[in-house]
Amino acid sequence: MAAALKRTGRHDFVVLERGPDIGGTWHWNTYPGCACDVPSHLYSFSFAPNPEWSQTYSPQPEIRAYLQRCADAFGLRAHLRLRQAMTSAAWDEDAQRWRIATDRGALRARVLVSGVGALTEPRLPDVPGLEGFPGPAFHCVQWAHDVDLSGRRVAAIGTGASAIQFVPAIQPRVGRLHVVQRTAPWVVPHSSRPITDLERRLYRALPALQRLVRGGVYAAREALALGFTKDPRLLGVLETLARRHRERQVSDPRLRELVTPAYAMGCKRILPSNHWYPALQEPNVELLVGGLREVRGSSIVTGDGEQREVDAIVFGTGFRVTDPPVARLVRGRGGHTLAEAWAGSMRAYLGTSVAGFPNLFLLLGPNTGLGHSSVVYMIESQIAHVLRALRAMDARGAAVAEVRPAAQQRFVAFVDDRMRHTVWSTGCTSWYIDGTGRNSTLWPDFTFRFRRRAARFDPSAYELRAARPSAPAGAKPVGAPAVG
Ligand code: NAP
Repeated sequence: MAAALKRTGRHDFVVLERGPDIGGTWHWNTYPGCACDVPSHLYSFSFAPNPEWSQTYSPQPEIRAYLQRCADAFGLRAHLRLRQAMTSAAWDEDAQRWRIATDRGALRARVLVSGVGALTEPRLPDVPGLEGFPGPAFHCVQWAHDVDLSGRRVAAIGTGASAIQFVPAIQPRVGRLHVVQRTAPWVVPHSSRPITDLERRLYRALPALQRLVRGGVYAAREALALGFTKDPRLLGVLETLARRHRERQVSDPRLRELVTPAYAMGCKRILPSNHWYPALQEPNVELLVGGLREVRGSSIVTGDGEQREVDAIVFGTGFRVTDPPVARLVRGRGGHTLAEAWAGSMRAYLGTSVAGFPNLFLLLGPNTGLGHSSVVYMIESQIAHVLRALRAMDARGAAVAEVRPAAQQRFVAFVDDRMRHTVWSTGCTSWYIDGTGRNSTLWPDFTFRFRRRAARFDPSAYELRAARPSAPAGAKPVGAPAVG
């Protein structure tokens, strides 16, 4: 967003980041084995191709370094306010500004863009006894690198996308590893491989070639959307692949039964790994099922009543996605918070604009997540929408753009209708579904359809309001967006 603002001649903005550096997910997640399960060529900005990727699926340090290079290359450092957390934001209708409080002073901005992401706030299971555990216990996004797990008895809780990466990575050095599963995931073979020197040289010399490869990866991923969003039976081929993978890698029939998923493939994230099943069969590893029910002193207790004494607990138990804490910090016109407006189920026009919240744009807002492709594509589509909105405001001399409730409702109705045909509605429990039973996180169609909609700015969907005479003197129609 910041790069796009600069590219379009808008330099009057700041980027607030509560952490010590940029990178978001790729700054905070430093757990052993952390990598992206979306191909590198697609999991990068379209405007900043990277011929230097070392693997077809990038490890976390490389993505983080890439984002750092982008910040330098696009001249964004001067706009960054690191270690500065937004503590609240309230729309001031008289001044037509956002009043933003931070832990290091206040700001006013015409436009507020949220870039806080969906997978930000770690979620620990609400089980009794956890506070009394005497040893180290941490979520994988807050990996305690100062804790030496060598030779220790470790419990790993969860078998999602994060655990499937850190369990095989820590298995060789821990003493005992108790993996606590609640639901067996669908696991497919991983096609990751090193990118050769020759390929890198070619990408450097022929950027068009890398764009072509990116296009191919995009098309292949988009084909998966057919199975996810139109007819889950089309995922049958992938299901066969996963079954064969399991049968090839897991010889013990009892273990095979325990790791066999009992829900429609794709209903939760499909996990690529060649190391997960082998790790579970190492002599120092034990798979426990039934989920974590309790922590009793220095022991974990599973839903099946199994008890194991451990020295450390690592949680790969996911994030608070459908009730993002940031929604309680943002107050719109009328004084209610986003969380209050959403009442337990996030809704936004194009996943980006919320009625009652003028000049606020959410990147990766409601229903913009994906099960099959790169969220970077979705983010770039939303950025295009924000730029269109800013341009429309400029062109019409408007100080305020606020999505009309009817436009938001129409969009949400479309999403809900499409959602009924998706694999995510086949009855599994997942973090995609909120407390009201709606899937308020994923986009239920091809991503190019989202882009086509988002790239347009439909003036009838927004109410554009002129600057008030009382607005501060010298106010331009649009200026000073803050990207948080
Ligand atoms: P997640 O997918 O939400 O997985 C959480 C895991 O914890 C699930 O297996 C869940 O089981 C389990 N769990 C929760 N409470 C439990 C309990 N009391 N006892 C035992 N298990 C429990 O979280 P995540 O693995 O951090 O991944 C979150 C998302 O981050 C992914 O879906 C993906 O979008 C993203 N991610 C991406 C990558 C990547 O490579 N691009 C890597 C990591 C994460 P249930 O299934 O029964 O709920």
